[in-house]
Amino acid sequence: MVTIRVHDKEFKEYLPAVLIQQRVTELAQQINTDYANKQPLFLAILNGSFMFAADLYRQIKLDAEISFIKIASYQGMRSSGQVMSAVGMDQDLHGREVIIVEDIVDTGKTLHHFLPSLHQLEPASIRIATFLHKPEATTFPVLIDYVGFSIPNQFVVGYGLDYDGLGRNFGALYQLA
Ligand code: 5GP
Repeated sequence: MVTIRVHDKEFKEYLPAVLIQQRVTELAQQINTDYANKQPLFLAILNGSFMFAADLYRQIKLDAEISFIKIASYQGMRSSGQVMSAVGMDQDLHGREVIIVEDIVDTGKTLHHFLPSLHQLEPASIRIATFLHKPEATTFPVLIDYVGFSIPNQFVVGYGLDYDGLGRNFGALYQLA
């Protein structure tokens, strides 16, 4: 079995690179079909999604744009709720077909808090494409349109995902051993 070491922890291979690439191709084909004659704007959430976003976007045959944003969270001054805002959003989303590209939807908290501010920019539509989904971890239900792989509730690294800054550069996905 292939294992890797990141910082102090051992991880075992969970999804080989070939399998990941096959699945990304399938997702791209699905998006190519669903958005035929449209010009979607991919909004990739940094840092984790950069590898998935690049591989996916490379196989998109539409007149599609891609933009990269970071989501910063802060505590609202008056409300008790958490607010997630986008850093680096330099695109006019008004009337656009937006496809959010995520590395992983875990509890759903990030997207749950971020989506309202995105809706305020009045895009024509918003869909979500995520490389990974952990259904068992859901505490904030979010409708996801394109899922690469549904995985158990265990920590993973590789293919863009890190453990304390390291491990993003692997083409395969690894699970805590
Ligand atoms: P959520 O807001 O859905 O709970 O969490 C989303 C974020 O948590 C992801 O974008 C990612 O940064 C981080 N995350 C959740 N699960 C994992 C995991 O198994 N591995 C890594 N590397 N990051 C994770």
